[in-house]
Amino acid sequence: MTTIEGNLQGLRERIARACAQAGRELSAVSLLAVSKTFGPDAVRQAQAAGQRSFGENYVQEGVEKILALREFPASQGEPLVWHCIGPVQSNKTRLVAAHFDWMQSVDRLKIAQRLSEQRPEDMPPLQVCVQVNVDGGLTKSGVAPNALLALAEAIASLPRLKLRGLMCIPEPVEGFEAQRDLFLQARLLFDRLNDEGFGLDTLSMGMSDDLEAAVAAGSTMVRVGRAVFGSRAGKITSPV
Ligand SMILES: *Cc1c(COP(=O)(O)O)cnc(C)c1O
Repeated sequence: MTTIEGNLQGLRERIARACAQAGRELSAVSLLAVSKTFGPDAVRQAQAAGQRSFGENYVQEGVEKILALREFPASQGEPLVWHCIGPVQSNKTRLVAAHFDWMQSVDRLKIAQRLSEQRPEDMPPLQVCVQVNVDGGLTKSGVAPNALLALAEAIASLPRLKLRGLMCIPEPVEGFEAQRDLFLQARLLFDRLNDEGFGLDTLSMGMSDDLEAAVAAGSTMVRVGRAVFGSRAGKITSPV
């Protein structure tokens, strides 16, 4: 068994325990493997171990991997699904629209409009989450909760995007309950949008260090890097 295969197995058990603790079905929480800084070989190993969905922070790096892995034999099963989870500058939206299946970190209408305009006609609509800033962290991207409804309405009307849900990355805090309380704020916003009729099915939250708290608060997708691929050696600090 490769290290990545073993990590994935351990992680699936961890998610299963978190679901059981929270009284939720295991099928309610999906795993996005965050492959940033790791090469195509690591993605192939995870794929061979049954993982299908991968997340990338840095557009250029992600696109290179998507292209390198495009020729993977169909006999290996369903195609990979690629999520962009990092902040994107206006001049990179075309690359995202042309190569990714999902864009999880939309927090401005201008970016959403460009993605919709630039999504190629022969591809399905780009699946989108709005990133919401639940704790007011000054350095973090994400729309403020009081501006969320207007942004969600505007995005829902764009023809080449499909609004699927919310994503959040709270500042790290110590302790399960403090973590859960932050995630619950995102859950509340998610429920409110669905009360307004948005029909969202994706609440993307929880990472290697806090996924239990996120699952307890209702996460439907945990985004996990280090617990799948190991620690990142040369941490890239600025988006490309
Ligand atoms: C890197 C990253 C992750 C994964 O973080 P780990 O701590 O490695 O699990 C999840 N979401 C986003 C947006 C990230 O940038």
